Amino acid sequence: MTEASDPFAPTIALDAELLEQQLRQEDALLRGHFRLSSGLHSDTYVQCARFLRRPELAAPAAAALAGQLQAAGLQPDVVVGPAMGGVVIGYELARQLGVPGIFTERDAEGQMALRRGFSITPGERVVIAEDVVTTGKSTLEVARVLRALGAEVLAVASLIDRTGGAGGLDFPHFALLRVQAATYAPESCPLCAAGVSLVKPGSRPEKAF
Ligand SMILES: [Zn+2]
Repeated sequence: MTEASDPFAPTIALDAELLEQQLRQEDALLRGHFRLSSGLHSDTYVQCARFLRRPELAAPAAAALAGQLQAAGLQPDVVVGPAMGGVVIGYELARQLGVPGIFTERDAEGQMALRRGFSITPGERVVIAEDVVTTGKSTLEVARVLRALGAEVLAVASLIDRTGGAGGLDFPHFALLRVQAATYAPESCPLCAAGVSLVKPGSRPEKAF
């Protein structure tokens, strides 16, 4: 595909600073005091779907990740984007790398699995695509599933890395933006102690009456 034929081809290089600015503009990266779905409190809330809904933002982000992979000499045979967070960025990354993009999802027993007739041929080289890697646990779970099918996991590529370097991954992690985020148990949350009002993301009224 030539650049001229792709309406979303990046016109300027995307660096971490620009991505952070775009994430904030889309309310995909919020700083404050949040109650996460896990029940923990955090000073940071990330909702990449709000960013990835815009193809003109998602495409340059995927291009930047593809560039990192290519610079490292990594060319996968297939991109796997775990549902839900990895589906959109995984598709776009696969499109730009010119390879198929598939996804894992939880089965009836709650186990990550390839469904819908998706399969891995033993020896296939895989890049896992995520919107954000928070603890690394779910990415490792996906890697285990893929390796059990015979895949060679080359790397994970994510928009955001908020592991603080503690992801425990045994393969490279490429990310466009590394975000420091603190999480607290509600009873020991310093933001609560300081009286900062708590926001449950997604529950805010869309508009004031
Ligand atoms: Zn709190």
